[in-house]
Amino acid sequence: MSSVLSVNDLTVKFSTPDGDVSAVNGVNFDIKAGECLGIVGESGSGKSQLFMAVMGLLASNGKGSGSVKFKDTEILGLKTKELNKIRGERMSMIFQDPMTSLTPHMTVGAQMTEVLMIHKKMSQRASTNRAAELLDLMRIPEAKKRLTQYPHEFSGGMRQRVMIAMALLCEPELLIADEPSTALDVTVQAQILELFADLKDNTGTAIVMITHDLGVVAGLCDRVMVMYAGRFVETGDVRDIFYDPQHPYTRGLLSSMPRLDAGGEQQLSAIPGQPPNLQDLPQGCSFQARCAYRFEPCVEDPHPPLVGFGSSRAKACHLKGFSAEGETL
Ligand code: SF4
Repeated sequence: MSSVLSVNDLTVKFSTPDGDVSAVNGVNFDIKAGECLGIVGESGSGKSQLFMAVMGLLASNGKGSGSVKFKDTEILGLKTKELNKIRGERMSMIFQDPMTSLTPHMTVGAQMTEVLMIHKKMSQRASTNRAAELLDLMRIPEAKKRLTQYPHEFSGGMRQRVMIAMALLCEPELLIADEPSTALDVTVQAQILELFADLKDNTGTAIVMITHDLGVVAGLCDRVMVMYAGRFVETGDVRDIFYDPQHPYTRGLLSSMPRLDAGGEQQLSAIPGQPPNLQDLPQGCSFQARCAYRFEPCVEDPHPPLVGFGSSRAKACHLKGFSAEGETL
C-alpha cells in the first residue's frame, strides 16, 4: 500500500536570542492508509513540533528542513494557500486543549458547517445534517440541539469530542492526534480511544497518535516510534515494543507505567534525571546522563544511528540488546 505521509530527514530548528534550538534532528518515517502510528516520548522530546512542522504550523521563529510528502505532493514550505487545500480537508490535527482550537463566539454548528460549505461546497441544510451526524457518531446526545450551542456550554470531554468531529468533517486521509485525551478523566479517555479504534477499523484513515503514555498506544496502534531529544530511539510493532523493548529509554518508559498483566508484583520506577537541553546536546548519545547502561562509546562516539534489526524493528543504541530476562547481551 502506498504511503499517505512520507517524512525524510526532517529537522526542525527554532532561533532564539540564546541561539538555535534543535527540536527535531533528521527523522524519517512513513505511514500508510488505515495504519495507526504511535509517537511516544516525554514532554519536550520534539514529538509535537515534528507534527506542527508537518502541518505547516510552526511558530514564526521555527523552520523545518528536509522533506514531507503528503501522497506525492511535497508540503514542507508550501504556501499557506496551497497548504490549506490539503490541511483541514485531507489531513487534520486534533490538539490537546480544545478551547484553544474552537472559536468561543461561534456556535459549534456554525463552526462545523462553515468547514463543509467551504471545503466540500455543501448547502447549509446538507452541512447541518452532516455535522449532526458526526456529533451523533461522537456519542454527543441531542446532536441537532447541541449544534446551536457555544463551546463553553459543553463539558471538557464533549468539547474534545467536538474537536474530533470537526477533524473528521472532510473525511481526512490522515488524522494527527496530539495527546487527544490527556486532559480528560479516564472514562472519557477510554471513550475517545474507542472512537479512534472504530475509525481505524471502519475507514482507511491513517492515524498518528502523539502521546507521552505508552498505555494509550497499547490497544490502538500498529507501530510505535519512541522519541527522545528530537530523534527516534526505538521503532517497531506495538507488541515488540511492549514485550521486548530493546532501548534503555523504552525500557525506562515501560517500567514507569503500571501494567495490568504484572499481577500486583510490579515495582514502578521513574527514569532518573531530566531530558537534555536541546540547545546544548551532549557529544555522544543524548540519553547518556540518564542511562544505567552507559559505557565508553556512549560518551565518546557520535549519537548512535537508528539501525534496523529483526523483521521491522530499529534502535539507536550502542548496546547489542537485552535478553528476555532483561540482561544486556
Ligand atoms: Fe544508554 Fe549508551 Fe544506549 Fe545511549 S547508547 S541508550 S547511553 S547504552
